Amino acid sequence: MDIKYFDNAATTRINEEVLKEMFPYLTKEYGNASSMYSIGRQSRRAIENARKQVAQLLNCKPQEIYFTSCGTESDNTALKGVAFKNKEKGNHIITSKIEHPAILHTCQNLEKQGFEVTYLNVDEEGTIDIEQLNNSIKPSTILISIMFANNEIGTIEPIEQISYIAKKHNIIFHTDAVQACGNVPIDVQKMGIDMLSLSGHKINAPKGIGALYVKDGIEFETYMDGGHQEHSKRAGTENVAEIVGLGKACEMAKNNMEKHIKYLQNLRDYYISQVEEKIPDVKLNGSRKNRLPGNSNFSFKDIRGDELLLKLDEKGICASSGSACSTGSLEPSHVLTAIGLPQNLLDGTLRVTFGEDNTIEDVDYLVENLEQIVKMLRK
Ligand code: PLP
Repeated sequence: MDIKYFDNAATTRINEEVLKEMFPYLTKEYGNASSMYSIGRQSRRAIENARKQVAQLLNCKPQEIYFTSCGTESDNTALKGVAFKNKEKGNHIITSKIEHPAILHTCQNLEKQGFEVTYLNVDEEGTIDIEQLNNSIKPSTILISIMFANNEIGTIEPIEQISYIAKKHNIIFHTDAVQACGNVPIDVQKMGIDMLSLSGHKINAPKGIGALYVKDGIEFETYMDGGHQEHSKRAGTENVAEIVGLGKACEMAKNNMEKHIKYLQNLRDYYISQVEEKIPDVKLNGSRKNRLPGNSNFSFKDIRGDELLLKLDEKGICASSGSACSTGSLEPSHVLTAIGLPQNLLDGTLRVTFGEDNTIEDVDYLVENLEQIVKMLRK
């Protein structure tokens, strides 16, 4: 059976051009980038070229980019790094209720270590409460970390408004841009972002590579002890091939941004209109306006998301539900709970996230099956 993949927020397929760039560094160019001889120097050059490519996508300096192993590591480094570096100044951190576990669980860990965390509410579209942000700031606030765009419902947060408030109070502003990077234009200078996390596998580079942007002058404690790699800020022999892949994916994202956004928006909007036209009792979660170009998230009344996913899987369709399966029980998603979704909609959620491999015909196939399955499950 042909697989129809609609889960690009979970991960993406490695682009062929990205793989081609990586290949030499998995084969003949195996030198350690810290070595002085020629194949070592070649690895070093490749890493520095990738650093430039990532920096160009974000409009920052190459030396402001640190390679990590994933988005989760970037988030951990940013939060723990800033918290411990500034613990004499203050112990208060502000984040939101709808962050990814890479942020939420890091914050919970910091709370156990004496830090105080405010988790901001969001409205029914998933946009953070700016007034609450303003009112939550105290002399002890050292960091604001708000995601650029949400991984479940695709809501894009008011980043420039947040950074304006952070600047006004001289507080460091970090954003988890793992979902946004490559899917919306990001200019860290114009947007006033101090730190930003991104991940390779969401932008057609491999899994296991990420980056953290840290504005010049912002100090953070190192997370990993060891050698002097990444300006002594992230020890460990560099994963050259994957760094090269991430660099290439960032270069491609920058060059194709406008076309990419239009293509995904077109698929998304067609899908949304088809579902709303053909299936009764559905609710689109998130914002219609401030939404990631490839994200859709629907709740189907009186349906169980896990059953829906299994039936779709029988048709070769890969998508995702709004529930996190933990210890054998299905818990409603913290994001859908935070936007105040009623109980009868909470269970039947389907996230469909588009990528460049999807076509309009794929959307027709998806909607056709969805229509039938929802009808059948409701019976
Ligand atoms: N932050 C967000 C918003 C994400 O969606 C994800 C992954 O889904 C992560 C962080 C973690 O990234 P990684 O899988 O590279 O650790």
